[in-house]
Amino acid sequence: MKFKDDCIFCKIANKRIPAEIIEETDGFIVIKDMNPVAPIHLLIISKSHYDSVLDVGCKGGADKSGGRELFGILGSLADKFNVADKGFRTVINTKEDGGQTVNHLHIHFMAGRGFGWPPG
Ligand code: 5GP
Ligand code: ZN
Repeated sequence: MKFKDDCIFCKIANKRIPAEIIEETDGFIVIKDMNPVAPIHLLIISKSHYDSVLDVGCKGGADKSGGRELFGILGSLADKFNVADKGFRTVINTKEDGGQTVNHLHIHFMAGRGFGWPPG
């Protein structure tokens, strides 16, 4: 478990800052995005600090169960928000070209409208 003192998502995921918790597992917490771009816009945030998804894959810090846990969360959210039939969009923005603005691993879960392809 890595905790970075100046990281807002470390504070949220470890409950140093109060937030409405949609779902929680050993490794992740799910909250609403404060600036939603879809009727349902959630953030799946790792409890441990990783600068980006690259930190998980390349630096050996990952708990191997994390991926399985994450896929489980997606299914659970789809059921909870009743979007398993219509579907949803998941996004992991990574670094500058990916449009990442918060440097702590998080996965966007967006639903409730159609999304175009390719993304802008
Ligand atoms: P990124 O661009 O890094 O993939 O996404 C960061 C997301 O986090 C943005 O959609 C932004 O609205 C959201 N966000 C940033 N700070 C906070 C916060 O303090 N609370 C919540 N709920 N969302 C945040
Ligand atoms: Zn962090």
